[in-house]
Amino acid sequence: MSSRPKSILRTLVLCTAAFAIATVGRERVSAQPPAARPLPGTRLSLDELKKQMFHVSAGRRLKPKAWPDGAKVAVVISFDVDNATSALSRGDLGSEVLSRGEYGAVDGVPRILHLLDTHNIPASFYIPAVSAELHPQMIKDILSKGRHEIGVHGWIHESLPQLNDESEERRLLRQAIDSLTRIIGKKPVGYRAPSWAFSQYTMKQVRDAGFLYDSSLMASDDAYEVLLDGQPSGVIELPIERIVDDAPYFGASNGSLPSPDLVEPVFRSEFDVAWDEGGLYVLTMHPHTTGHRSRVAGLDKLLTHMKQKGRVWFATGEQVANYLKKNAGATN
Ligand SMILES: [Zn+2]
Repeated sequence: MSSRPKSILRTLVLCTAAFAIATVGRERVSAQPPAARPLPGTRLSLDELKKQMFHVSAGRRLKPKAWPDGAKVAVVISFDVDNATSALSRGDLGSEVLSRGEYGAVDGVPRILHLLDTHNIPASFYIPAVSAELHPQMIKDILSKGRHEIGVHGWIHESLPQLNDESEERRLLRQAIDSLTRIIGKKPVGYRAPSWAFSQYTMKQVRDAGFLYDSSLMASDDAYEVLLDGQPSGVIELPIERIVDDAPYFGASNGSLPSPDLVEPVFRSEFDVAWDEGGLYVLTMHPHTTGHRSRVAGLDKLLTHMKQKGRVWFATGEQVANYLKKNAGATN
């Protein structure tokens, strides 16, 4: 080829490339959603705000007149057994984050089960199905105790607001229920959303799936019936709260302050007031977070305090929800 046709060819290639880049650039720009207005709530009517605020909300209070056996307080010790599923759902395959999650199955759950044996108390374990499938021994160990509950905590700890897809969310929920039902030999009755975060579709799907209770919301210290768009859903809420959760205190990955000796008094004082009020106390921990040596020692102190105080009904979420259904007038 002479130099002239070569240069024509080069010009043609460059022009084509430039056109392609410009086109892609234009498409990229046109595919961008319009910038969201700041403070969208400021532009809504009261009716629109009511619809948003009360899509999922607190209905009838379900605080019973008395707990079983003259107990002053019902205590649900609960664990969200995320292990590494959250990272796997995001495709984060770093060895640090995966092995830190794996710790929950290798050391965390066994150490926690040993402590619960020492105190002879039951607990509820909310488990992403993938976590159960990846660590079958963990499930065998939990079930072998004969007094713990296993509930649903998503398929792979998927962020439901981020997923924001009704049919995908339904597929994952069904997959999670089917998987846990096969593994534990019965259909789980308790639901706790991954990261405690609902999408706009979650409550309806939880109700339609026939769960006895949910434990993802925070509108009260005590149990209540969940309203869906203003209507009683029949689903009992056993509320959780960040104050009585290990994640805000110990969740950071960089060594984490504070000391367990600073956290235990917070958990303890919440318990003491629940005892005074005759209420419900739901504590949430994560085996990959609280399963460490010093933190299980902190949990030991808390459980010892509860037992010394006395008149405590230690129960699973399932037992509490069934008791409330019979004794506090839930509709389902
Ligand atoms: Zn979780």
